[in-house]
Amino acid sequence: MSSKRKTKYIFVTGGVVSSLGKGITAASLAFLLKRRGYNVKMQKLDPYLNVDPGTMSPFQHGEVYVTVDGAETDLDLGHYERFGELICTKESNYTSGKIYLNVLSRERRGDYLGKTVQVIPHITDEIKTCIRSIETKDTDIVITEIGGTVGDIESLPFLEAIRQFRQEIGRGNGIFVHLTLLPYIKAAGEMKTKPSQQSVSILREIGIQPDVLICRCERPMEDEHRDKLSLFCNVPRPLVFEEMDVEHSIYEVPVDLAKQKVDTHILKHLELKPRSLEIKDWNKMLKNLIEPKNGVVTIAVVGKYASLNDAYKSIYESLTHAGISSKVTVEIKKIESDIDDVSPARFLKDVDAVLVPGGFGSRGIEGKIRTIKYARENGIPFFGICLGLQCAIIEYSRNVCKLRKATSHEFNPDAKHLVIDLMESQKNVTEKGGTMRLGSYPCDLKKGSKAYKAYKQERIDERHRHRYEVNNDYREILSDKGMIFSGLSPDGELVEIMELKNHPWFVACQFHPEFQSTPLSPHPLFKGFVKAALKHRDS
Ligand code: GLN
Repeated sequence: MSSKRKTKYIFVTGGVVSSLGKGITAASLAFLLKRRGYNVKMQKLDPYLNVDPGTMSPFQHGEVYVTVDGAETDLDLGHYERFGELICTKESNYTSGKIYLNVLSRERRGDYLGKTVQVIPHITDEIKTCIRSIETKDTDIVITEIGGTVGDIESLPFLEAIRQFRQEIGRGNGIFVHLTLLPYIKAAGEMKTKPSQQSVSILREIGIQPDVLICRCERPMEDEHRDKLSLFCNVPRPLVFEEMDVEHSIYEVPVDLAKQKVDTHILKHLELKPRSLEIKDWNKMLKNLIEPKNGVVTIAVVGKYASLNDAYKSIYESLTHAGISSKVTVEIKKIESDIDDVSPARFLKDVDAVLVPGGFGSRGIEGKIRTIKYARENGIPFFGICLGLQCAIIEYSRNVCKLRKATSHEFNPDAKHLVIDLMESQKNVTEKGGTMRLGSYPCDLKKGSKAYKAYKQERIDERHRHRYEVNNDYREILSDKGMIFSGLSPDGELVEIMELKNHPWFVACQFHPEFQSTPLSPHPLFKGFVKAALKHRDS
């Protein structure tokens, strides 16, 4: 038996292919352990060399998830917060880039004078420090997910570091969970265990024997598969679990894992008491999600990356959450905003509401602006987020305030009417990485506004990621023409929410509300928006 330790560690690795849903699986484990009364923290280690994903295109990386303390991170952290009912921080995501940057900065400072700086031990030691950095004195369990797929050259230092880490803390204090794939070969009519055997053998070659196998599969596993996997992967049979494709929603994953008692087996290995599991509210939420009483509403999301599933992940999830609270299925119509020659009437005629998400750069802007004009003029509920707010301001300036050349500094710094301008704090910023206005900031709401009605409180906190803002020189002309600035920074300097009076629901915010919505606690603005969509559908 290993010496008792307060904080236990679960390391989650992935084998065979990427996109297995490692993040969702890890987050589901966090949910179950939390619901058994343990204080859980989550972390992801990403093998790529960017210091953070903030400078990557959504084509490369999908959504950039922003933490309360302003870190630009991997989208899996969104799953961690939505499932795990926990808050992630800067310590929840480290990349190889950040780890190398730390080590190399120390090397330049002279901290290693006289020594050769090497992957082992210097990089692996730094990885272990990062792993430990998330632990506080009241943390019971840390779940650390290793990005990438076992067998990738890039992830080797991480695997070596977690091997060492578990060696140091002892078996009963740490566990290796390996998520793998059992592909179904149609021609043979069989599910295959060989790729999993091979990925476990790569792990074993580097000294990691997985304690638990979770097998992703399209069809149920048979006894024969469990026997084979147990024998060849050297994992006790009761610790070989199946994670079948879910029927309706990713939020079913924790329930499926709980049915197989994955969580209690893990607790036993970690020498922790099983405690009882309390998930009635989650099951009720699932029921509302799967069998909604109020049918379907269709919401158009008009963005530059609409066709990429991962680019607006948190927005799509937040819409689903709001649907749960209104007992309605939200069907999302994804529309690419490069629609310069198509009339919005064509793709908006059968939708109940329109959302324009955040983004960067000028591609697709005119399509978004025309979409917003159509929604405004036709009383279609509209929700603008970040760039979506900026486009709504430009649209109103051009078409209602008659400032025909209105635009944002981001698209044309020399234009006559920069109704969206670079924030004062951004004017001397030259570096791109991690330099936007990032993380949580307070905002004060105007009583009587739609925003106030949604939140039901005066002071809110929301997460930001932007460089540009409403230009205060144009506030008066915009409000004279009926625009309401219903959310402002406490010093009154920054417009955080705008809305329109003579419209059923036209609200836009400079922050990203999608980072604070969970299935059990849908975000107030998304709730208000989906309710408005429902009303529009029935009108
Ligand atoms: N590109 C805009 C800005 O930097 C909007 C950013 C966003 O939508 N996240 O202000």
